[in-house]
Amino acid sequence: MSGELRLTGLTRVHGRGRPPALDGLDLAVPAGSCVAVLGPSGSGKSTVLRLTAGLDEPTRGSVHLDGRDLAGVPPERRGVAMVFQRPLLFPHLSARDNVAYADRVRGAPRRRARARAAEFLDLVGLAGLGDRAPRELSSGQEQRVALARALAAEPRVLLLDEPFSALDAPLREEMHELLVDLRARLAPTVLLVTHDPAEAAALADTVAVLEAGRLQQHGPVAELHARPASLSVSRLLGGRTEVPGQVRAGVHHSPLGALALPGPVADGPGVLVVRPEAVALAAGHADVTGTVVRVRYRGLRPLVTVDAGGVAVHAELTPGDDVVAGAVVGLRLPVAARHVVPVRPG
Ligand code: ADP
Ligand code: MG
Repeated sequence: MSGELRLTGLTRVHGRGRPPALDGLDLAVPAGSCVAVLGPSGSGKSTVLRLTAGLDEPTRGSVHLDGRDLAGVPPERRGVAMVFQRPLLFPHLSARDNVAYADRVRGAPRRRARARAAEFLDLVGLAGLGDRAPRELSSGQEQRVALARALAAEPRVLLLDEPFSALDAPLREEMHELLVDLRARLAPTVLLVTHDPAEAAALADTVAVLEAGRLQQHGPVAELHARPASLSVSRLLGGRTEVPGQVRAGVHHSPLGALALPGPVADGPGVLVVRPEAVALAAGHADVTGTVVRVRYRGLRPLVTVDAGGVAVHAELTPGDDVVAGAVVGLRLPVAARHVVPVRPG
């Protein structure tokens, strides 16, 4: 049930003179892996899925599944199944018959189709709820039915278009756990679209960042966190601190002072980025000293902004760290967490 998906130069232009909705995307999704396409609204994420599913035609480029070019192949023959933000169930069919629908259309006898549907409902944690109508299910349960229906089609690639973004936070967490379990049991190939970096990190092996139809960076989430290729990637993944300066001989010079960098970086202008969770209160030696200008909380974690010589440094501290606005504090910016994004000319 897991195929290898390969998108090559995939491009979609909706009209003359318009910027492409998707511009030359190269992306491989190895069999059994989960790749997340992460980007803001309008960046072309759904376009990737629509072109893969055959719901839209590329202007240029190709979609290959297990080496086969899908150009001209209709959606129902592609071996893909898609789950959308809304479950889109047939309201007059039971949960079980919604899941059995594809088998029935293919001519399977009702008993067999329903027995298989029951297995897939079981798999998504809805055993015993097969007789319910969609209106008798919660929104999370409805989305589980939609997932069961997609899995029952035994697709070679499962396409998920922000499938959990309409759910509230606790339900979304549950669905993340479910998807992790399903991946462990069935190893489907998954192409997931999301605007939520936490969701991408929770579910995907690698993350492809899309902005204005162009791929910005593709890699394991840890790599995108530690070494964003651009400021937009850094921001999209929750990076806050940006310190313009100059790199000379592996040292970044700015109003924060001279900060040694972990690896070789070309000399020239560059913006130092450090993720807030990497910054800590200094017990002894401080890399940076400044005044706390704001304290917010995420759960028990203080999120502080420190003004250091006119530069805002953001830190996500440890629960119990006692900081108040106006205090002068020392911060540690671990060398390994320092990264410089080159300033592109123009
Ligand atoms: P996302 O899913 O990331 O929010 P989409 O892939 O839906 O973005 O859309 C990417 C861009 O293409 C947007 O600017 C959108 O307005 C445009 N677009 C999408 N579908 C159409 C269409 N059928 N006609 C014209 N423009 C479209
Ligand atoms: Mg979309």
